[in-house]
Amino acid sequence: MQVEFYRHSLDDKDVDNVLSVLRSVFLTSGPVGAKFEAKFAAYTGLPHVVALSSCSGAMHLALLALGLRPGDEVITTPMTFIATSTVIMHCGAKPVYVDVEPDTGLLDAAKVAAAVTPRTRGILPVHLYGAMCDMRALAAVAEEHGLFIVEDCAHAIECSRDGVRPGELSAAACYSFYATKNLTCGEGGAIAWHDADKAALSRQLANHGMSKNASGRYHGKYEHWDMVAEGWKYNLDDIRAALLVDQLDRLDGLHARRQEIVARYDAGFAGAPGIVRPRAPGVSAHHLYTLWVDPERRDAILHELKGRGVAVAVNYRAIHTLSFLRDALGHAPGDFPEADRIGRSTITLPLYPKLTDEQIDYVVETVRDVAK
Ligand SMILES: *Cc1c(COP(=O)(O)O)cnc(C)c1O
Repeated sequence: MQVEFYRHSLDDKDVDNVLSVLRSVFLTSGPVGAKFEAKFAAYTGLPHVVALSSCSGAMHLALLALGLRPGDEVITTPMTFIATSTVIMHCGAKPVYVDVEPDTGLLDAAKVAAAVTPRTRGILPVHLYGAMCDMRALAAVAEEHGLFIVEDCAHAIECSRDGVRPGELSAAACYSFYATKNLTCGEGGAIAWHDADKAALSRQLANHGMSKNASGRYHGKYEHWDMVAEGWKYNLDDIRAALLVDQLDRLDGLHARRQEIVARYDAGFAGAPGIVRPRAPGVSAHHLYTLWVDPERRDAILHELKGRGVAVAVNYRAIHTLSFLRDALGHAPGDFPEADRIGRSTITLPLYPKLTDEQIDYVVETVRDVAK
């Protein structure tokens, strides 16, 4: 049996929506993106959504709109994808790592206050694998020290913890619609803001700092546009937004299937020697299903699984150990021992709504056999 690592859940309706855009006059950011923004705002409960070309762009713009400047520091996690840190560096600021909780892999809120310095401006937590960080605890630290919070919600649309949803207790939540994410258009992202002015600023910075975007220039009478700030090019075109508008209506149904798959995996791995499951507090979005195995055997297990038809990945090796960030920030692996250990133990298994029960059982049987 072959089990692919990921298959999307796009359907004929989504494809038809793309064709409609292609047959219309307007291909870039326009009415379809605006419709998605309104629907996504309703879904997340966050009032001002700006659709963008990636979560990386979303986080970069969120930090800029919040005034992050060269020399500033942002507290974040080493157990994540590199974008969580590089967007801080794009602003000329420095990512300051705090180690993760040993049983969840999430930023350890209890250690954040000790990392605050006079240069600290904000906290950038990641809801790893779809399980939320302790946002109440992080919000309390942020409040006490006058810091902003921007959430990396690339794994985290459908989740909650202690009655808190992504973006509820922060300035901005940044989402990814990359090819393998729970909601996808190949490449895409969004920022959800509480503040209308910050949303407007990030929208302008996503379009070269121009006072009018293409849709604004196309509709109505001709007016000159101005350049009012140094901006970037991070807008989402309507071709890709067309894949999101109706897919969003199916997200909760797809999430229910993810929940079933995780329950079947969990039952299959219960009591298996050599396999540890990270604890997932609250209601997880179940973006990734990861196992922690003996670091000494992790790579051999990965290769063996691949050989037996089970596609696997690693999310993630601790990013402070990757050459560039290690050298740029002057870190050694042992600086954040929990993240380093998790990064050397992790295996990600296939998790997507189209997995069949037969495939899940094959993955369980194969992993149990290889890891024992
Ligand atoms: C995918 C991902 C990103 C980057 O998202 P893009 O849309 O590809 O820019 C950022 N953070 C995490 C945790 C991710 O998994």
